[in-house]
Amino acid sequence: MDISIVGLGPTGCFLALALARRGHRITVVERDRGPVAGRWTRRGVVQFHQPHGIRTQVVDALRAELPDMLEVVRSAGGQVLPAPGSEDVRLGIRRSVYESVFWDAVRADARIEVLPTTARDASYAADGRVTLVTDHGVVTSDLVLNATGRARFLDDRRAPGLDADPGIAYASRQYQVAERGLAAFADGQAVSGTLPGYSVMLFRQDSDVVSTLFVHESADDEFAVIRLPSAYDAVTAAVPALASLMRPESVRPISPVHVGRRMRNVYRGRLTEADEDVTPGVVHVGDAQFSPSPMNGRGMATSLLQARHLIDLVEAGHDVLTMARMFDEWCRAEMLPWFHVQVADDVSLVRQWHGLDLEVDGRLPPSVIAKAHADDEHYRETINHYLDMRLPPSVLIPMEPATRAKLASGWRPPFADGPSRAELLRTARAALT
Ligand SMILES: Cc1cc2nc3c(=O)[nH]c(=O)nc-3n(C[C@H](O)[C@H](O)[C@H](O)COP(=O)(O)OP(=O)(O)OC[C@H]3O[C@@H](n4cnc5c(N)ncnc54)[C@H](O)[C@@H]3O)c2cc1C
Repeated sequence: MDISIVGLGPTGCFLALALARRGHRITVVERDRGPVAGRWTRRGVVQFHQPHGIRTQVVDALRAELPDMLEVVRSAGGQVLPAPGSEDVRLGIRRSVYESVFWDAVRADARIEVLPTTARDASYAADGRVTLVTDHGVVTSDLVLNATGRARFLDDRRAPGLDADPGIAYASRQYQVAERGLAAFADGQAVSGTLPGYSVMLFRQDSDVVSTLFVHESADDEFAVIRLPSAYDAVTAAVPALASLMRPESVRPISPVHVGRRMRNVYRGRLTEADEDVTPGVVHVGDAQFSPSPMNGRGMATSLLQARHLIDLVEAGHDVLTMARMFDEWCRAEMLPWFHVQVADDVSLVRQWHGLDLEVDGRLPPSVIAKAHADDEHYRETINHYLDMRLPPSVLIPMEPATRAKLASGWRPPFADGPSRAELLRTARAALT
C-alpha cells in the first residue's frame, strides 16, 4: 500500500518503520524541522522535556516489530529496567533521547520519504485514493494515518469526543548521577509517593540521568515558586523519599525546572454523534485517538498498542473504509475503558491530596481499589496484571464491596512521609531569602 503518515512522534515513527519493513511505501509529513544547533525545542509537544515512565507494552512492541531498535535504544544509554512488583519491564530513557533515536532511524531508512511540512487537510476520492494537502503541495496515497497527537489536524471535521481536565500540573528536573552515587539507584525502583497536597516521583532514565517530578493542582498558583531552581532543590531535599537519593554530592542538575500544564485526558472516536464518518481514508492513531492524562504513564503504551493493532488490520488486507471502522471499534473496546478509569483516578488523586471522600460519581476509583488490596493474597495477582495493563479495568469491579468495607473501617490510602503542601511551600519560599 501507499501510506502517508502525518506526525513523527513515538506513534508515527513506530508505524513508519514497521510498515516500511513490511513492504509498504511510506511518506511521512512532519512539521517539526528537528534539532537546531543541538537544541530541540519540539514546539507543540509539551511533554517533550517531561519525564516518561515507559511501560512494557512499548518494549513488547519494539521486540515484535523493530527488535534492532531496542538495541539502538540501549546503545543510546536507554535501560530496560525491572518494573516494581511485577514481571514486566520499563524502558528508562529521556523522551528527547528516545525521539532522537527514532528520528535518526526513520531518516536513515531509504524506504521512507520524509516531507518537512505541515499537513492541513485530507480528502477521500471515489477511486479510493486519499489526497493529503500540505503547505508544500499534495500527496496522494491509499491510506493516511493521523499520528499528530493532540495537535489540531482535521480538528474542525472530527467529533469533539470526551475531554477531561485532570486539574494537575507538573514541575520536573533532570539530574546526572555521579558514579559514586549510582549504587543508591541500582535496584531500578522508581519512587512514587502521595503526600498531603501533592505527589512526587523519581524516574530512572538513560545514561545515569534521573528526573524528579512534583505534581500539584494546576489551580494552585502558589506552587509556581518551585519553578525557581533553588526552591526546587530545597523541596527535593525536604521530601524523604527523594532526599535519600538526591544527595547533592551524588547528583548534579542538568536542566532547568520544566513546567507542564494543560494536561488533558482525551478520547476521540472517528464517528460523529450522527454516526457519520467525516474523515474517510484517514485513521487517527496514538494520542490523536486516545490521549490519557499522564498520571499513570499510559500514553506511549496505549499509542503503541493501537499502532500494533492497526498494523494487523493493514496486513489483513481489509479495504481502507472497513479497516478504519474496525480500528475504531477496537479502540472503543480496548482504549476507552482506560479513559474512564483515568478520569476517576485523576479526580480521586486531587481528593486524596485534600483528605476528601474518594468516591467519584458513586464508584470507587481503580487506584483506590488497587491500593486497598495491594497486600491481599486473594487479589494481588489480578491487581498487578491490571496495573501492568494486561487485564482491563473491569477486573477490579468485583473488589469494590471489599474496598468499601475497608474504607468504612477507617482505612485510607496512606500518605508517604514528608511535609504537607503548606510546609513544603514554606520551605520553598525560605530557600529564596
Ligand atoms: C506531561 C506529560 C507526561 C507524559 N508522561 C508519560 C509517561 O510517563 N509515560 C507514557 O507512556 N506517556 C506519557 N505521556 C504521553 C505521551 O507523551 C504520548 O502518549 C505520546 O507523545 C503520543 O505520541 P504520538 O506520536 O501519538 O503524538 P505526539 O508525541 O504528540 O507527536 C505528534 C507529532 O505530530 C507532529 N504534527 C502535529 N501536527 C502536525 C501537522 N498538522 N502536520 C505535520 N506534523 C504534525 C508533531 O510535530 C509531532 O511530531 C505524557 C504526556 C504528557 C502531556
